[in-house]
Amino acid sequence: MSETIRMAVPNKGRLESPTAALLSQAGLRYEKTTRALSIPVRNIDLELLFVRTEDVCELVEDGVAQLGVTGLDLLAERNGGIEVVTELGFGRCALTAAVPNASAVVDIAGFEGLRVATSHPKATAAFFDGKGVSITTVPLRGSVEVAPKLDVADAVVDLVSSGSTMRVNGLRPVATVLESQAVMVAGAGVLDGGNPIPRRLVTMFRAVVAARRKRYVLMNAPATAVDAIEAIIPGLDAPTVVPLAHEGMVAVHSVVDADTMWDVLPRLEEAGATGILVLPIEQLIP
Ligand code: AMP
Repeated sequence: MSETIRMAVPNKGRLESPTAALLSQAGLRYEKTTRALSIPVRNIDLELLFVRTEDVCELVEDGVAQLGVTGLDLLAERNGGIEVVTELGFGRCALTAAVPNASAVVDIAGFEGLRVATSHPKATAAFFDGKGVSITTVPLRGSVEVAPKLDVADAVVDLVSSGSTMRVNGLRPVATVLESQAVMVAGAGVLDGGNPIPRRLVTMFRAVVAARRKRYVLMNAPATAVDAIEAIIPGLDAPTVVPLAHEGMVAVHSVVDADTMWDVLPRLEEAGATGILVLPIEQLIP
């Protein structure tokens, strides 16, 4: 029998609740207690390790866990030995190079010779190295955005999602160092190993991520409107068209991009569809 697979997941912070939602939608059943670090999943031979987001990579690299959920930005601070298996579509943010509003710097070249405060020193150094710009990194664990005010640094490289924290601290974004989001990671060779559980979890997580971007749409329509409807919603392959008890009427089912629903629904109505239902999808494997 193969050993129980362990997956390290965030126990607090920004990624905690979206990760819990992902695990639940992927069908993992477990009882989370506030104190336990390690919790068995009831319906899969899998153990969840609840740890700090920034410790996930370390645990996977060390082989304490075989799988993990963390931010792509944190992976960029490591030295390899761990692979991104799939992007998870939440925790989106950008590692952003910024300067105080009053600074004369307007582009990356302007960072030459500056002290740059960041909690991502490796990604920052690699970015400026790649641009041929020489900087001094000032590694900080937190409160990066106040470093210029304290004259600890001339500029910052910090994570931004809405940009409001930077604005409040009088900082002006200049360039994006890295686009980040939550990712599922695996230790080297884990997916090729004899235990099928890691591969199955990857399939499930991908199915959930794909499903969240789609909606299942059902409607009734005159058979004569099917061509026009199909042009609006092509579906994964083609829409399912089923005859209804009323002569000349059909039911049309299809899968539609969630982001386009605002545009698609009024056009379906215009094309003659009635009784239109839009349903969420739990998992989707195309
Ligand atoms: P935590 O410190 O536990 O709240 O998690 C921080 C992680 O959340 C980062 O490494 C990013 O991957 C992600 N994240 C998403 N948006 C932001 C943001 N605006 N600021 C900081 N971290 C963010």
